[in-house]
Amino acid sequence: MKIICIGRNYSDHIEELANTRPSHPVVFLKPDSSIIPKNQNFIIPAFSDEIHHEVELVVKINKVGKHIDESFSNKYYNEIGLGIDFTARDIQNTLKQKGHPWEKSKAFDNSCLVGDFISVDKFKDLSKIDFSLKKNNQLVQSGNSSNMLWKIDELISYVSQYFTLKIGDLIFTGTPAGVSKVISQDILEGYIDSTKMFSLKIK
Ligand code: ZN
Repeated sequence: MKIICIGRNYSDHIEELANTRPSHPVVFLKPDSSIIPKNQNFIIPAFSDEIHHEVELVVKINKVGKHIDESFSNKYYNEIGLGIDFTARDIQNTLKQKGHPWEKSKAFDNSCLVGDFISVDKFKDLSKIDFSLKKNNQLVQSGNSSNMLWKIDELISYVSQYFTLKIGDLIFTGTPAGVSKVISQDILEGYIDSTKMFSLKIK
């Protein structure tokens, strides 16, 4: 399986990193080796002094598809979850300055936390999903899918022009504002509405 990630999909996060608003979705991949095994901690890698959390809604693909028309995108997933796109911001900033690919900062081992999933029929409205991240019991990120620059169905249509979507693939849909550095002993807890989707310790 593959993990397709969308960057710069919420304007408040674009502003906090002083990035420019993209004219098309920013897309990058993580390998399956980036997924944190169930019930394991996140271990800060030796190569970075600035690991940021990015909480994101995650779409799980359940059907093979390519060149998906946006009006059919909803037939390619039936679960939405929550995860963290861990980012070595110090390394990413250096790579960006050089115009190099982001993988070393975004796709390293354990850079991808995949929490629980909820069946789409449990949501009243997929275009208004509330989600949040608490760090040490303090709210640090909160978002709503209504604030995505590109909505879930648009993203599926867009990325399927480039990548065949396969069963089990995950799409990380971008992070809202509030990203910050994690340090050893932090506890991160993610929520969709008031349902806890994951809890993770930083080591
Ligand atoms: Zn992200």
